[in-house]
Amino acid sequence: MMTYHPHKILVTGGAGFIGANFIQYLLKEYTDINIVNVDLLTYAGSLHYLENVAHHPQYHFVQQTICDQKAIEKMLTDHHIDTIVHFAAESHVDRSIADPSVFLQTNVLGTYALLEAARNVWLNEKKWNESQCRFHHISTDEVFGCLKKDDPAFSESTPYHPNSPYSASKASSDHFVRAYHTTYGLPVTLSNCSNNYGCYQHQEKLIPTIIASCLKNKTIPIYGDGSNIRDWLYVVDHCVAIDKIIRQGKLGESYNIGGNEERTNLDLTRLICQMTAKMTHQDPSSFLKLIQFVADRPGHDLRYAINTTKIKNELEWKPQYNLTEGLRETIYWYLQSAFLNGMTHDHTSFSTQV
Ligand code: NAD
Repeated sequence: MMTYHPHKILVTGGAGFIGANFIQYLLKEYTDINIVNVDLLTYAGSLHYLENVAHHPQYHFVQQTICDQKAIEKMLTDHHIDTIVHFAAESHVDRSIADPSVFLQTNVLGTYALLEAARNVWLNEKKWNESQCRFHHISTDEVFGCLKKDDPAFSESTPYHPNSPYSASKASSDHFVRAYHTTYGLPVTLSNCSNNYGCYQHQEKLIPTIIASCLKNKTIPIYGDGSNIRDWLYVVDHCVAIDKIIRQGKLGESYNIGGNEERTNLDLTRLICQMTAKMTHQDPSSFLKLIQFVADRPGHDLRYAINTTKIKNELEWKPQYNLTEGLRETIYWYLQSAFLNGMTHDHTSFSTQV
């Protein structure tokens, strides 16, 4: 198998949850790459979690929308970018239900602008061949739609059936990325991943909400009866998978990434309450009683599940963290941040023994 070696990487959306983890991962693993992080810094982006690398010689930040094709083209040229890793997106389903327009703008038109910029600079101006550049697109399992309890998990050949404006916008962007490979020969790879968790995730998402609610003694809102099932992957495992796909993935192909950790939302919430209680030496019942069922999300998909056979067999990737291990790291990180933000005072009593 031919291995591709990225040298100058444009990470889009690197001030978001997964992008920031990916940048930290790359800088820890490699001394032979340079990173340009392009991020608009919407409500979801923060440079706070990249402060430790802000002056790193291999790292450079540019505040810029991905929707400005000419600005992206200039960036690709000025920084001699050979690899684009595309995370930037509007990513919250509830917000997409309230106002789909920005999802269309960023996720569809922003991806189109990036693809056009890459095509112009790499293929038309530099006349690079496929061994000299790469465009990796990060997508979600939500594009496949909704599974029943006993349906087989999503594979790479499962037909797309998005049900929310968010997943519809991601599905559309996936199709454009694949089409640029088939039509123009742009060297692309894609990945569709299940729900991530870990450090730096925005407070509006489920796991940070559960942990913060426990620490603040606030109600933990759970949609419907909590029976919706999701697969959970620790964000560091996702970063390793993306890196493998960029280096060894087959061009034009997509890879499903998942943790093989399916849980109902209610079971996951209970587990986090119990682990957080243990790590803060509290009575679990004081957190469990905070759970409150709220009106279900419109069009709420019952279940997502990921078949990871392809990435396991072809790229020898499998998650290194099981759910308990990943949650332990995650909760510990939130406890430390909560302590730093004054949400909890008793830092010395945290425990990682769960
Ligand atoms: P996030 O919302 O935490 O971060 C998104 C980042 O994109 C933010 O920093 C934001 O400022 C930036 N951004 C938004 N619009 C932009 C624009 N027009 N130009 C430049 N930057 C812009 O998202 P995340 O959870 O880190 O997800 C990253 C990617 O992974 C997304 O494409 C998402 O669809 C995908 N994904 C996420 C998950 C998950 O569980 N979080 C799972 C599978 C796939």
